[in-house]
Amino acid sequence: MELTAPVYYKDFRCLADRCRDNCCRTGWEIDVDDETVSYYKSLPLPLRDEILAGLAANEEGVYTICPVNGQCPFLTESGLCSLVIQLGEEHIGDICTLHPRYREWFPGRMEIGVGLCCEEAARLILSDSAPAEFETYLTDADADDDDGEEAPLYLPLLDLRDRLFDLLQDRSLPLRQRMANALRLTAAVQGVVNRGEVPTQDIAPSDLAAEPADWKTVLAAAVAVHREMEVLEEDWADSVAGLASHLDGLDWRGFLDALGERVYEYEHLSVYLVFRYFLKAVYDEDALTKIKQMILMVLVMAALGVRQWQKTGRFSLADQIEVCRQYSKEVEYSDDNMEALAEAFLFEEALSTEHLLGFLEA
Ligand code: SF4
Repeated sequence: MELTAPVYYKDFRCLADRCRDNCCRTGWEIDVDDETVSYYKSLPLPLRDEILAGLAANEEGVYTICPVNGQCPFLTESGLCSLVIQLGEEHIGDICTLHPRYREWFPGRMEIGVGLCCEEAARLILSDSAPAEFETYLTDADADDDDGEEAPLYLPLLDLRDRLFDLLQDRSLPLRQRMANALRLTAAVQGVVNRGEVPTQDIAPSDLAAEPADWKTVLAAAVAVHREMEVLEEDWADSVAGLASHLDGLDWRGFLDALGERVYEYEHLSVYLVFRYFLKAVYDEDALTKIKQMILMVLVMAALGVRQWQKTGRFSLADQIEVCRQYSKEVEYSDDNMEALAEAFLFEEALSTEHLLGFLEA
């Protein structure tokens, strides 16, 4: 089977006890696969009961690791996993083994990457000044049996995603214009899909008329949506509230001057989000929401960056990693929050495609 990954994927190594925000301290409830639970149940006492005390089964019989005081009960003070120490890496659940890697299956192939919620993954995603690249390998893993007949959008959207990468990485243009170009192409694609047809690779971008919109109106609407979201950590809620109350004072020009060529970090974020989410439209036929989510997520992360820079007078790569990691943890890694973002496009006029074009092309 073919497997596609960002080139940086193979460089990922968990920082383990050197990690400042260990993923075992997220407060997430983590599902444990049946095979692993069966293994725990087969262990001798008292180890079996000690481990099972950290798990709870829901009504469907699925076991989850229950956080205690916001962290995994198996995390030791040294930042290592007691299950790994006692039983070995092969005896932790699939999700723990995989995280922060993610996988998506498509007909005959798989895509993998590392998620922005992990500080080491964020460093890999953000730190190379060159445009992100992807590579395809052949692996022994089993392919999805689906031969593509039930996913007619798969190959067209795969080709169109390459066009989106080219648009977003066209460094002859300001990033805002690149995002507008990606939005226009996707709006055209969505129009074809909505008519029940399959878009062709050479489809022309939409000539949709933009509605006048300034960045403050769009950002205020985006921040309002974020303020309604569920919150994992209070300092995140404080950051969003602080952004909401300082919108008028955001010094974008000064920030971009200070950032200089590091604007490629926002290009990398846009490419990461498109790689990870755009092809989900193969199954839900909603390509436009994927691109609008990308634009809004990058905009809010950038605004948080501006605020951080104005508060502290600096914005190093480490600061950027922290902003993005926290954003990803709170928003990207919450299905409910991503859903709230998608729903906002249905109801918020300031976040319509026309208004986003107006803001991006101003
Ligand atoms: S957040 Fe990343 S680097 Fe830190 S412990 Fe988790 S996987 Fe390792």
